[in-house]
Amino acid sequence: MFESLTDKFNTTFKKLSGRGRITEANVSDAMNEVRKALLEADVNYKVVKQFCKDVKQAAMGAEVINSLKPGQLMVKIVQDELTKLMGPEDSNIFFVSPGPTVILLAGLQGSGKTTTAAKLAYRLKKEGRKPMMVAVDLQRPAAIQQLQTLGEQIEVPVHCDFDTKDAVKVSKSGVKEAKKAGCDTVILDTAGRLHVDDELMTEVSNVAKATSPHQIYLVCDAMIGQDAVNSAKEFNNRLELDGVILTKLDGDARGGAALSVKAVTGKPVKFIGLGEKIDNLEHFHPDRMASRILG
Ligand code: GDP
Repeated sequence: MFESLTDKFNTTFKKLSGRGRITEANVSDAMNEVRKALLEADVNYKVVKQFCKDVKQAAMGAEVINSLKPGQLMVKIVQDELTKLMGPEDSNIFFVSPGPTVILLAGLQGSGKTTTAAKLAYRLKKEGRKPMMVAVDLQRPAAIQQLQTLGEQIEVPVHCDFDTKDAVKVSKSGVKEAKKAGCDTVILDTAGRLHVDDELMTEVSNVAKATSPHQIYLVCDAMIGQDAVNSAKEFNNRLELDGVILTKLDGDARGGAALSVKAVTGKPVKFIGLGEKIDNLEHFHPDRMASRILG
């Protein structure tokens, strides 16, 4: 994960640590390297600009130039600023009582929505909740069956209706059935398309209006970098997003989406997907991620 960014940061800070004393020019050179590395990692350019400004300011305040270990101090400053950029940590799910708590998952096709619905259901079940998944993706032919198979695998009930293309109807009947079955959490797996378009947005907005979800999460494929961030921005304009779930971080060598999505949308990353297996879903901890990036 984020290998290329980690490599570049390591090289930059090693150069700085190799010096006994450093000058303002050395700090500026290091910041140029950091800027280049972040842009190459596909981090949003405005985010990069602000980030570098913040690091520079913090470095001046901490008197990096006069410090005995300037390299280490710079690493600490960059780590703190990366943590701030991706934070604050906000990975808790808001549950209502009495339930069921309705969680709507939205996102583009292929982002990992259906897989994430099951990963989340599995996680909640392990935490003692009684989830039900609802197959609202009526666009992708295999999506209903995929959710059913996953449901069987994790022993979580799935509500579906093969006879309709009406997403609102299925989501409403799903919430009703969950209540009847005594389930305390409903996960709605909505339809995605290859691009954000009006039809997709209208459908998912209608599902949201009809079911008044307590949480709306956007599932984003981290591997598509800025495209993921741009689509998050568009979804956020149309839906009241509560957070983002970043998938496929295990295959993301660059890190652009993870580093920009909070700053661009203002919405926290709740969970990260770290593989195809059902238990490859973790809470997002900005501080741990920052340490990981710095190697
Ligand atoms: P949907 O169209 O958004 O419902 O996407 P799917 O849930 O069908 O996922 C698309 C592909 O991404 C599948 O092959 C999943 O196994 C894979 N996938 C989902 N999440 C992750 C993840 O965190 N890591 C990896 N490596 N693959 C993932």
